[in-house]
Amino acid sequence: MVKDYDVLVAGAGPAGSAAACVLAGRGFRVGLVDRAAYPRPKLCGGLLTAKSMEALRRIFGLSEADLAARGGLFHQTPDYVFLHRGRELLRGAAAEPFRFIDRPAFDALLASAALARGAELLPGREVASCDPERGVLTLGDGTRLSASFVIGADGANSATRRALNIDREAWKAGLAAAIEVELPVGRGPGEFPRAVRTPELHVGAPDVPAAGYGWVFPGPRGPKVGICGLRRNEARQGRDFAEIFRGYLRLLGVQGAEGVPLRGHPLPYGNALARPCLGRLLLAGDAAGFVEPLFGEGIFYSMATGAHAATAVCRALEQGADAAAQYEGLLARTVRPEFLWSDRLRWVLFAALQRFGALPIKGFVKSAPAALAQMVHGGRSFRLLASKRWEWGDELEPKRPG
Ligand SMILES: Cc1cc2nc3c(=O)[nH]c(=O)nc-3n(C[C@H](O)[C@H](O)[C@H](O)COP(=O)(O)OP(=O)(O)OC[C@H]3O[C@@H](n4cnc5c(N)ncnc54)[C@H](O)[C@@H]3O)c2cc1C
Repeated sequence: MVKDYDVLVAGAGPAGSAAACVLAGRGFRVGLVDRAAYPRPKLCGGLLTAKSMEALRRIFGLSEADLAARGGLFHQTPDYVFLHRGRELLRGAAAEPFRFIDRPAFDALLASAALARGAELLPGREVASCDPERGVLTLGDGTRLSASFVIGADGANSATRRALNIDREAWKAGLAAAIEVELPVGRGPGEFPRAVRTPELHVGAPDVPAAGYGWVFPGPRGPKVGICGLRRNEARQGRDFAEIFRGYLRLLGVQGAEGVPLRGHPLPYGNALARPCLGRLLLAGDAAGFVEPLFGEGIFYSMATGAHAATAVCRALEQGADAAAQYEGLLARTVRPEFLWSDRLRWVLFAALQRFGALPIKGFVKSAPAALAQMVHGGRSFRLLASKRWEWGDELEPKRPG
C-alpha cells in the first residue's frame, strides 16, 4: 500500500517541529499535523537555557539573531533570585544568560524552519486516534493518513499516547498542575506591583506547593507569575490549586487576586514513560513526559527528544535499523540519566525544605553556585555535577541535494 507520507508527526510544538525539521532535512516526506493554526497561544514561562540555544542551532540551524528577529526573544539576563516564603534567600549570576521568548512567535519560527526544509504543515487538523501497528492517524473529520512511522508530539494531553498501554495511574500521579498569568505592572487590582527583569524562583511559602515551586519571570507584556506542583500532593491535603495560586499572588503583593482570570495546563513532572514506543509510533516531548523533574524545563527536552525520535526513524528508513531500539538507546545515553538524577535531587531538596526550612537549600546553592548554574544550562550533568556534552546523531545534518 502506498503511504501518504514517510513520517507523520502529530503536534507542531518544539518536539514535533524538531522531528519534522530533521526528517524533512534528510529528504523524507513529512506531514506535520496540528489542531491549531500558527501562531497559536501556549501557556509557558518562555525561559530558554544555554543547552536550548545549542539545540536550536543543531536541529533547526537557528541563531540567537533569528530568535531576536522572528522567534519572540525579548529579554536575557544571567541574574537569578531564590526566595523562601517571599523573602530573598540568595541572588546570583550564571556565566551564561537565561533567555526569554514569547512562545507563539517561538513555536511559529520552529514550525516555519521545518517547512523550509520541506515538511508539509497540516494546520487546524485534530488527531483523534492513532493505529500504531499500521502507522495511521485518524483525524477528527474522519480522514485517515498513513505513514511508515508516526511521531506523537501532541503535548501533555496527547491523543496519540492513548494507543500505548501505559499505567494511567502512574502517569496521573506524576502530573503537576501549573497555573500562569501575565500581569501588567501597576498598583491597581490584578496588576503586578513592580517591573521584573530578573527571574525569581519561590519555594517554601504556604501558598507555594510542597512538591513544586513558584516563579516570577520577565514577560513580553508584563511579569509572568506561575506555580506548579504535583497534583497528588495538593489533592491529598485537600487544597484547591486555584486558591493556592491566588494566595501566592497576594503574597507577591497583587491586589484583587480573586478577580484575576487564571489559565492552567498540566505539566509532566517526573513521569517520563519507560516505553514511549509501540509498533510504528514513537512519542516525544510532553506527550511522553519528557520534562526535567526538578525545574520543569520542557522546551529543551521536547526539542531533544523530537530530534532523537527523528534520528531513530532516519536510521530505520535509511539503514533498516529498529527505530524503537535506536530511540531507547539515545534516550538511555542522554535524557534518562539526567532525569534520574534530577528526580533524586528534587526529593532531597523538597524533603530538606519541609523538614529544615531554607537553610540547607541556601547552603547547597551557595556551595557551588557556578556549577549549579551550569547544571541548569546543560554544561554539567544532574549526575553529581559531572561535566556534560549532549549526544546528537549525524542525522541532524540535512542531506545535500544530489
Ligand atoms: C505554565 C507552564 C510554564 C512552563 N514554562 C516553561 C519554561 O519557562 N521553560 C521550559 O523549558 N519549559 C516550560 N514549560 C514546559 C514546556 O512548555 C513544555 O515542556 C513544551 O511546550 C513541550 O513541547 P511539546 O512540543 O512536547 O508540546 P507542546 O508545546 O504542548 O505542543 C503540542 C502541540 O500539539 C498540538 N496538539 C495537541 N493535541 C493535538 C491533537 N489531538 N491533534 C493535533 N494536534 C494536537 C497542540 O496544538 C500543540 O501545538 C512550561 C509549561 C507550563 C504548563
